[in-house]
Amino acid sequence: MNKRVVILGSTGSIGKNALRVIEALNLSLKNKGRVTDDGGQRTGDASADYQIVALSAHNNVELLAEQVHKFKPKYAAITNPQNYDRLKELVGNADTKILTGPESLIEIAQIDEADIVLAAVVGAAGLKAVLAAAKKGRRLAIAAKEPLVIAGRLVMETAAANGADILPIDSEHSAIFQAMQAGKPDEVSKIILTTSGGPFRNAKKEDLRNVTVEQALAHPVWNMGPKITIDSATMMNKALEVIEARWLFDMPADKIEVLVHPESIIHSLVEFVDGSCIAQMSLPDMCLPIQYALTWPRRLPGITSRLRLDQVAKFTFARPDLDTFKGLRLGFDVARVGGTAAAVFNAANEAAVELFLAGRIKFLDIIELVELCLNKHSCLNSAGLDELLEADKWARRLVVESAARRGAGR
Ligand code: NDP
Ligand code: MG
Repeated sequence: MNKRVVILGSTGSIGKNALRVIEALNLSLKNKGRVTDDGGQRTGDASADYQIVALSAHNNVELLAEQVHKFKPKYAAITNPQNYDRLKELVGNADTKILTGPESLIEIAQIDEADIVLAAVVGAAGLKAVLAAAKKGRRLAIAAKEPLVIAGRLVMETAAANGADILPIDSEHSAIFQAMQAGKPDEVSKIILTTSGGPFRNAKKEDLRNVTVEQALAHPVWNMGPKITIDSATMMNKALEVIEARWLFDMPADKIEVLVHPESIIHSLVEFVDGSCIAQMSLPDMCLPIQYALTWPRRLPGITSRLRLDQVAKFTFARPDLDTFKGLRLGFDVARVGGTAAAVFNAANEAAVELFLAGRIKFLDIIELVELCLNKHSCLNSAGLDELLEADKWARRLVVESAARRGAGR
């Protein structure tokens, strides 16, 4: 059976990799039965290939138009309406229906002609589309962590009620998902998320005072979009991932641990009640978790290079420094509390990262502003979507106002 795929955020780092993976999968499936490079027989699913039915971008019209010409999807959504005319012009008379506005993301997430929705829009902007895909019972291959942080309970409950499988793409969560298959959910005693430590792994708070945007964007291992790269530098990325794991695997925060593992080969581990630890290892390459989310429950030959353990030589692990990277400590607190606190945590961070990238606040202000919002917020525990979105809006406003006051006082 063909697998029809919608990619939300096809022009981003994950979106582009997803298209590379799909092209390679289709090629490999076409060549099924040939002998592979390493001498094995291809085990491709004879009848399956992956067809792109919808793509989306926000500003990058040129790349979206290129993707439309190449993949010929039925729909293309340009969520920023200011780019609609330019996209129309670039797409010309291709047979693709062009949609626009924030709602267009929701429209393509729930089209009838889809089997898999791959969610790779950065930030809260993808939340409603993720919920729409879950409601439709689609397989949700989810890279975007913010929707799970803001509304993890709602996303998981909606998926469960509508039979939608959720396949994590975030490398740590894909690793946990894979390791979980070695036992039953009630046999898990804890999960251990690994982190490269980002560009400032060995820094102390004093060293971080004058970090520039350029320094924060220079990640030692992963090449990703700007928002997640800054999150990795503040270790907010790991904080968001703790909350993401809390919901994806229904795991209380106290059973989640974080370890710094600079080699980035072990992507995460699951410890079972008998003391067995199952880890997933591979070279750091997002194409692997993207592909697994598409082909699950099968594994197919892919484009990720093979791990040579003799070339890695050694693995190191350390506890994270929760004083320097206070955002991670806050993340654990928020994972314990849940409710609107998680929406505030995420939104304050998104707004602060935007201000940092625009050169309007300093690196350490990001976490200070997130903490300020959490301190001022009265958390609502069993919040619905409206309350979560309201908390999101409130936190963004507070960050912008507080940053402006700080700027004026400097
Ligand atoms: P990018 O910034 O590279 O791409 C983001 C995508 O979202 C682009 O297609 C962009 O369109 C689109 N977009 C941006 N703003 C909006 C908006 N307001 N409405 C609709 N679409 C929008 O991000 P990444 O690919 O790096 O990350 C995507 C998600 O995946 C994030 O949640 C991130 O945390 C997660 N993730 C990423 C990893 C990675 O390796 N990159 C690893 C693990 C998780 P345009 O290009 O037109 O601006
Ligand atoms: Mg990750």
